[in-house]
Amino acid sequence: MEKKIKVLKCVRCDKHYLPPVNTCSNCEEIFREFSEEEVEGTGKIYSFTVVRVPSKHYKDLAPYLLAIIELEKGLRLIGRVICDDFSKVQIDQPVRLVSSKDRMHSFALIK
Ligand SMILES: [Zn+2]
Repeated sequence: MEKKIKVLKCVRCDKHYLPPVNTCSNCEEIFREFSEEEVEGTGKIYSFTVVRVPSKHYKDLAPYLLAIIELEKGLRLIGRVICDDFSKVQIDQPVRLVSSKDRMHSFALIK
């Protein structure tokens, strides 16, 4: 089963938010009613870097690839891309969510 990611949607204008916000920036007056929705955990690499000197919480993972992933509806989030060969990773490469643990999303390359 495809993994999904929870996002917020303004109930007035349908703009989606990730991460969550307190007020809708798209509505002219202050509006704070949101519904929760799920979007597909598939997207593409918008940008990436290889982390070789991590914070102490992730020291066992280094080196690892950290990327901005663009999901549907233009939503973006930061996640780790699990791969063996960083030299094969490219901008716009498709990825899919494989796990979400402790607010860290991990993606795998779609071949
Ligand atoms: Zn709105």
